[in-house]
Amino acid sequence: MIRNYHELTRLEMESVDREKTIVMIPLGALEQHGNQAPLGTDFLIAGAMTEYIKKAVEEADPDFPMLIFPPMPIGLSTEHRNFCGSITFKPDTYYHMLYDIGASLAHHGFKKLAFLVCHGGNTPVVQVLSRELRSDFGLYAFILSSGAFGHPDVKATVSPGNVWDFHGGEMETSMVMAIDPSLVKLETSEAGEPSAFIGNKSLMPYGSVSISWMGEDWRTKEGKAIGIGGDPKGATAEKGRIILETSARELVQGLLEIRDFKI
Ligand SMILES: [Zn+2]
Repeated sequence: MIRNYHELTRLEMESVDREKTIVMIPLGALEQHGNQAPLGTDFLIAGAMTEYIKKAVEEADPDFPMLIFPPMPIGLSTEHRNFCGSITFKPDTYYHMLYDIGASLAHHGFKKLAFLVCHGGNTPVVQVLSRELRSDFGLYAFILSSGAFGHPDVKATVSPGNVWDFHGGEMETSMVMAIDPSLVKLETSEAGEPSAFIGNKSLMPYGSVSISWMGEDWRTKEGKAIGIGGDPKGATAEKGRIILETSARELVQGLLEIRDFKI
């Protein structure tokens, strides 16, 4: 059975099989997502994604032992800190905040954690932290990447020619529209590309030769720094629903294997 962690009473928590139960912690962010999408885009996606995951996993195993933690609204958003409204932890603050949550869960006897990463900037800290939690407490912290952006059904939602779609682009904007269309102001959207890297053969924001990019590296064709990858204007709620549903489905097998992982 999958339940929300914060909805259990102490008495109910005392009867949870904490050795077996996975605690899923969705990790969002509070940062600019362009003119058109809300600052809390990743936080909203984190919350919705847990609902889609719950449905998909319970179809595979109605008794799946998992508690869903309240989605973390703020993460590591250094790359967007210069854009109005973005809020970020410092990496060490973020590390210690999550470490303390892990320590508390371990204190109560939990053995399995699953971080649902809904903002790429959080990933490096979560990777380092997961190994430390395992080493310090015997708490196994698994890492789930929330968007199946390489899946053909998800790729098919991106409009032709929108080759840079990424942060605050068509896919993310579509997901917010599927959650609450009133939060998206599509008529104000602008398209962005990684201007600082265009024309390079090797040095890119990702890959074998890279640099930790900042939002300012992503600009409009006219050179205005907007920190947005891709063109949001083709976003629709239906596309967002497909992305959320496909991404959730893609995590089911992994979650079943986490359930069966012997520790
Ligand atoms: Zn985002």
